[in-house]
Amino acid sequence: MQLGKDPRGGRRTARPAGGVAAQADGIGWEYAPAPESREIVTLAPEYGLFVNGEFVPAAGGQVFATVNPATEEPLAQVAEAGAADVDRGVAAARSAYERVWGPMPGAERAKYLYRIARILQERSREFAVLESLDNGKPIKESRDVDVPLAAAHFFYHAGWADKLEHAGLGPSPRPIGVAGQVIPWNFPLLMAAWKLAPALAAGNTCVLKPAETTPLTALLLAEVCQQAGLPPGVVNVLTGAGETGAALVAHPGVDKVAFTGSTEVGKQIRRTVAGTGKRLTLELGGKAANVVFDDAPVEAAVEGIVNGIFFNQGHVCCAGSRLLVQESVADAVVGRLHDRLGTLRLGDPLDKNTDIGAINSRQQLDKIRELSDAGEAEGAERWSPPCELPERGFWFPPTVFTGVSQSHRIAREEIFGPVLSVLTFRTPDEAIEKANNTPYGLSAGIWTDKGSRILHMVKRMKAGVVWANTFNRFDPTSPFGGYKESGFGREGGLHGLLSYVRLEDR
Ligand code: NDP
Repeated sequence: MQLGKDPRGGRRTARPAGGVAAQADGIGWEYAPAPESREIVTLAPEYGLFVNGEFVPAAGGQVFATVNPATEEPLAQVAEAGAADVDRGVAAARSAYERVWGPMPGAERAKYLYRIARILQERSREFAVLESLDNGKPIKESRDVDVPLAAAHFFYHAGWADKLEHAGLGPSPRPIGVAGQVIPWNFPLLMAAWKLAPALAAGNTCVLKPAETTPLTALLLAEVCQQAGLPPGVVNVLTGAGETGAALVAHPGVDKVAFTGSTEVGKQIRRTVAGTGKRLTLELGGKAANVVFDDAPVEAAVEGIVNGIFFNQGHVCCAGSRLLVQESVADAVVGRLHDRLGTLRLGDPLDKNTDIGAINSRQQLDKIRELSDAGEAEGAERWSPPCELPERGFWFPPTVFTGVSQSHRIAREEIFGPVLSVLTFRTPDEAIEKANNTPYGLSAGIWTDKGSRILHMVKRMKAGVVWANTFNRFDPTSPFGGYKESGFGREGGLHGLLSYVRLEDR
């Protein structure tokens, strides 16, 4: 079945979602601007690399600018690490591993992790504002999701640091050594926490490479490490572009590589690491199916669909970017979805009422535009609520494609933006086949009233995480990771710790 235009005919009651003046749908009052103050953040004009407990310029003196994607305003100049800096960072991590952190009892390491977690909480407003400035995500997401979850990861792993021998991982788990960790721009602070907390808890030292477009919260986290009195060299942060990441991954002094990012770069890293004896975990892309059955509670499912694809502007590896909806309820679900999208407010990321912030970079915006145009060219029908986009900055409206077939690029490729592709199915078997018809296998969602159907589907869906009657739930106790081209290894929970310990008795 081809889903047509708005099934109830005509334009919906969608309000302009531009800026904070958007009207609450059907209520008849307007949201007043509610901007979070950016005064809490003191931006330095220039930031150095964090090596051996100090902020230092890059050996070659190179810098690059990081900009606010909502305004294109340059925020700061940041040091760009070259090969000599990677050497310095890895040497500092090696020395700290051998002399201080590796031999330190777990109970002592735990104290530092607890301290970092508590400082993150104390400085949470500062982190949230800085994250929204550098990344473009709405403040209510950085404030309520990114920062508290980052603190939770440090708290959780602090609890394991002195209990690893009793965790059931195996006899005498020991650290691996120096971890080289490369992270993306979609959850800059949270991904840093996902990488650092388990590595440190298990006794490893770290060299972290944040994404070029979002280095600032990783550098503030480095400052927190100083504040917590973390011994020099235990955490090193090397800002830079892809070449810095490539040099770090290839460095012979690195024992373990952890990467989150695109499947393409993940494959390159796997080739680099092959045959070196380095341990590797990869958390890569996704094209998750969010499957809605005819017995699902429609209102709840629509909230889950919206959260699944419009949270963080769809810059989420586990985003529910393919909606598979049972044909008999497809019109009703898409109609309700249109209504709901009309109430979303797009605009200033620092406004507390904003639901959809800015796209992280011009490059990412171009990619979203290109794939959306391909969707139209291939015959799918595109819909967005009436939506004023700010003049400056990188913006893309929430977009829904209906009439999508499995061969369309928008059904196959990771768009990594606020774009939903809607497909339909008739039977559970057809839903499973379509859900699994992707080279990825990171996450999936199921919406149904029947517990037995959830169990039936979960067993057959090839995804590392399957959410039932919810979506995008993250918890440090729960392992996260993928199958197939979504990578391997887990982050979070005991499974995540396994990636940072040596179990062999040698
Ligand atoms: P990348 O995979 O290029 O970036 C992820 C991280 O790897 C960044 O820190 C990047 O540095 C670094 N990097 C880039 N090249 C190399 C290399 N050869 N060796 C080691 N590290 C490297 O993702 P992009 O930012 O280019 O995004 C492209 C697409 O990837 C997106 O459109 C999206 O589809 C997908 N993506 C998926 C993510 C996920 O969580 N699964 C996260 C981000 C992107 P730098 O930022 O400086 O280039």
